[in-house]
Amino acid sequence: MSHTPKILLTNDDGVRADGLGMLASRLADLGEIHVVAPDRERSATSHALTLHTPLRVEQVAPRWHSVNGTPADCVYLGVLELCPRPDLVISGINHGYNLGSDIFYSGTVAGAVEGALRGVPAFAVSTGWSRGGIDFEPAALLAHALARAVLREGLPRHTLLNVNVPQAKEGRPLLSGYAWTRLGQRNYRDQVEVRRDPRGGTYYWIGGTAEPSDDPPGTDTHAVHHGLSSVTPLGLDLTHSGLLTRLPEWRLHGFEAIMEHEHQPVQDQDQDQGQG
Ligand code: MN
Repeated sequence: MSHTPKILLTNDDGVRADGLGMLASRLADLGEIHVVAPDRERSATSHALTLHTPLRVEQVAPRWHSVNGTPADCVYLGVLELCPRPDLVISGINHGYNLGSDIFYSGTVAGAVEGALRGVPAFAVSTGWSRGGIDFEPAALLAHALARAVLREGLPRHTLLNVNVPQAKEGRPLLSGYAWTRLGQRNYRDQVEVRRDPRGGTYYWIGGTAEPSDDPPGTDTHAVHHGLSSVTPLGLDLTHSGLLTRLPEWRLHGFEAIMEHEHQPVQDQDQDQGQG
């Protein structure tokens, strides 16, 4: 790469989070680092965009911006306005894993997805949560190596990488090993806590703790459980090809199935109604 790469960082733990700070400092030698991150923790906000309230941007340091929005807002603003045409988007380092079905809820992964949607190579990086304090160093080192590789190799359009790095365990030093993986199953205990507020009203507290999975080797959950870092390629097309070939056997009463390739498409009247 002949020019100095421009790298846009975001996260969902907020602009002051330790994981983001560590990522920015460790990647500084790779190019021009720009940070556009939420002004507070926005974990599990998935791919929400703020369309109905004003977004305010505060510059907190040179090339560091804080936004009163979500990770997806931050990358949208970053790529189109605050740090135009970055070479790479990285989201993290998240305080806690994003494995398996976590990707549907994760603000961290959504930050990288927004980069991929805007045609910028992107990855998300998360590390295991630890009661005694999180060591971000291993995840930062892998992010550095991966950033170099992505800047060199590129990524196909509408793809991204999801990276998870385990914490070193007592008596088990962290391996420099990593595995290319597919998504496993991330199981949480189903939990709805029903409580009473001081005025007698009912409120709910949802979400249980993570439970161990018995996924086979080759999955992200299995890799981190065995002390390996995990890199999972993700695509933005969630179409299930197998189901698409089987579903035409269904009959929907009162409707006629049209084979799309035999059909002259009618111009969509509502195409400016996007972002629904
Ligand atoms: Mn988070």
